Amino acid sequence: MRIVITGGAGFLGSHLCDRCLAEGHEVVAVDNFITGSPENLSHIDSPRFSFRKQNISEGIFIDGNVDFILHFASPASPVDYLELPIQTLKVGALGTHNALGLARAKGAGLLLASTSEIYGDPLVHPQTEEYWGNVNTIGPRGCYDEAKRFAEAIVMAYHRIHNIDTKIVRIFNTYGPRMRLNDGRIVPNFLKQAILGDPLTVYGGGQQTRSFCFATDLVDGIYRLMMSQENMPVNIGNPSEFTVLEFANLVKKLTGSASPIVHQPLPQDDPKQRRPDITKAQHILGWQPKVTLEEGLQETLEYFRHKLETMPLEAG
Ligand code: UDP
Repeated sequence: MRIVITGGAGFLGSHLCDRCLAEGHEVVAVDNFITGSPENLSHIDSPRFSFRKQNISEGIFIDGNVDFILHFASPASPVDYLELPIQTLKVGALGTHNALGLARAKGAGLLLASTSEIYGDPLVHPQTEEYWGNVNTIGPRGCYDEAKRFAEAIVMAYHRIHNIDTKIVRIFNTYGPRMRLNDGRIVPNFLKQAILGDPLTVYGGGQQTRSFCFATDLVDGIYRLMMSQENMPVNIGNPSEFTVLEFANLVKKLTGSASPIVHQPLPQDDPKQRRPDITKAQHILGWQPKVTLEEGLQETLEYFRHKLETMPLEAG
C-alpha cells in the first residue's frame, strides 16, 4: 500500500513509519514540526519513504495514489495542548476534515488517532468503547478532548455518507523512545528527574491512576486495526493500572535514583482514574500488549540517558 502518515515526525507517527516500511509499504510522512521533530525520522533510509512539510490544518497535498491514511497529527501532551489550544482544535477539526477529503479524493481508507481523553474524567471504570465520557467542554483540557470528539464524529459521518473505510483507535497512555524529554508527561518527567537526581514531581496526592502501554505494542495494535474490517472505535492500551505515586516509586527503584518525591498542585480536570477495557481488541484483532512496564521503561530510560548526554541544553 501507499500510506500517508500525518504527524509522521511525532512520537507515535515515526514508530508507525518504521512499522509500515518494515511491512513493505510505501510511506509518505507529513508533519509541520509543531511538536514532531525531523530527528525522529533521521534513521530512515528507504526509497519507499518520503516526507512533506505541511500544516494539515491548511490542506494536505499529496500527488499520486494513496491507499491508506494514518491520521496522527496533533499535540498530545497536556502541557503541549495547554500551550497550543487553537492549533490543537484546528488540527482535530480542520486537519481531520482535510485528511478525510484526501481519503475521499484518493479512494483511500483512514484511521483516526483518537484518545482515552474522549472519556474525560471517567465515571465508568475500566473504560469500554460503549462509554460516552465525562468531559468539561470549557476546561483547560477541553481543546484536546473536544477536538478528538469532533474528529470521531466527522470520521463516522464520512464513513456513513461517503462510505469511506474508516477506523478509530482510542489510544491510552503510551510511552517509549522518541517521546520529547520536555513534553511534560509523566514518563519523560519522572525518568528525566530520576536520571538527574531532581525531585520527582507528583501532582496532587498521587492517587490518580494511569495504565502505560509501550510504543511497539501500541503500534502493533494500530497496524492490526488498519488491516482489519472494523469500523467502530477500538481501545488500545495496556490494562495494568498504577497510581501516580506507585509509578514514581517504580521509576525510583528501576533507576536506582535517590530522588525525593515532592507534591505539586493537581492540574484542573486531571482524570482520577484511567484504564482501558481491551476485550474488543483482544477478540477482534487478536491483540494484547506483550512488553512489561519494567522492560519498556528500561528501553525508554536508555533513550533518555543518551538524549541527556547528547543534548544537555534541551534537557536543562
Ligand atoms: N503527573 C505527575 N507529575 C508529572 C507529570 C504528570 O504527577 O510530572 C500526573 C498527572 O497529574 C496525571 C498523570 O501523571 O495524573 C499522567 O499525566 P500525563 O501528563 O502523562 O498525561 P494524562 O494521562 O494526564 O493525559
